[in-house]
Amino acid sequence: MTFNSYLDKFQNLRTGLIHGHIRPHKPVMILTILSLIENGKLSENKIDYSPQLLELFKRYFDLVKTKNDALNPILPFFHLRGDNFFHHKPFPGKQAGYKTLNGPGSVKAFFDIVQYAYLDDTLYHYLQDPNKLNKLREILIRKYFSKLTKEVWVLIKEEQEITTYETILKNGSDKISEKSNDKENRYRSAAFSRTIREIYDYRCSACGLRINLNGLVIIDAAHLIPFSKSYDDNPCNGIALCKNHHWAMDHFLLVPGKDKLWHVSSELDDRIPGCKDIISLNNRKVLLPQNQKFHPKEESLSWRHERILK
Ligand SMILES: [Zn+2]
Repeated sequence: MTFNSYLDKFQNLRTGLIHGHIRPHKPVMILTILSLIENGKLSENKIDYSPQLLELFKRYFDLVKTKNDALNPILPFFHLRGDNFFHHKPFPGKQAGYKTLNGPGSVKAFFDIVQYAYLDDTLYHYLQDPNKLNKLREILIRKYFSKLTKEVWVLIKEEQEITTYETILKNGSDKISEKSNDKENRYRSAAFSRTIREIYDYRCSACGLRINLNGLVIIDAAHLIPFSKSYDDNPCNGIALCKNHHWAMDHFLLVPGKDKLWHVSSELDDRIPGCKDIISLNNRKVLLPQNQKFHPKEESLSWRHERILK
């Protein structure tokens, strides 16, 4: 298929139309995929329904939605197949079940059948060329988000900046200058947060909680030695925690030690039933990233451990 035919397809998506309002879901899903490709996060033609995809979809969606548009990324992930460039790969033996689908049903049921999505190979190939990717994106923005052109481009540029910082962090950056300006700090902070959540596989390193609801993630990225003291955004100075355990670590009630075990402050009273869950974490293993190069460094663990509330 020619490049022009994809320009044509992007301008003529079969979008939902309610009282003259074009539903933004499909163009937002495509914008999301284009950003993932542009920022090196889709290194092959295989689109997972991943936390990265969902978080980015939510960012674009929140920007362009109007009041009765519901955040429901599974719908465009399913229905884009009707536009003849986006396809699904069912699991072996599930092809027949896939053919009977008229809609995704629940996310869980859909991904019992489907492994991932992919684009026409020709389209994926065109998108490796930044000029072609931009042309397709311009068409999409002009057609579907003409009133928000500037804002959408700001978001696209921000994603590029954040990705640059993520790459720096993953390659083991040193401390980042405290003289960074506000904008740089915002990108830096977003990159730290994404990097930590990703390397910990979106799981709390204390209790293992892992919930991702349409791009809303329960996990925070926390600094072991606070950024205000260390200016250290190296992933080895970070850890992923759920909201409760983040709060507990911030207040030195729960700290990871050099022994890679959790330590609970003796201030917590085990006679209070509500404290039992957190006290049970004492001496439990810190749930660490698979990649050892991202494990917390000794200096940062010691800093926390020395300050446990006594
Ligand atoms: Zn937790």
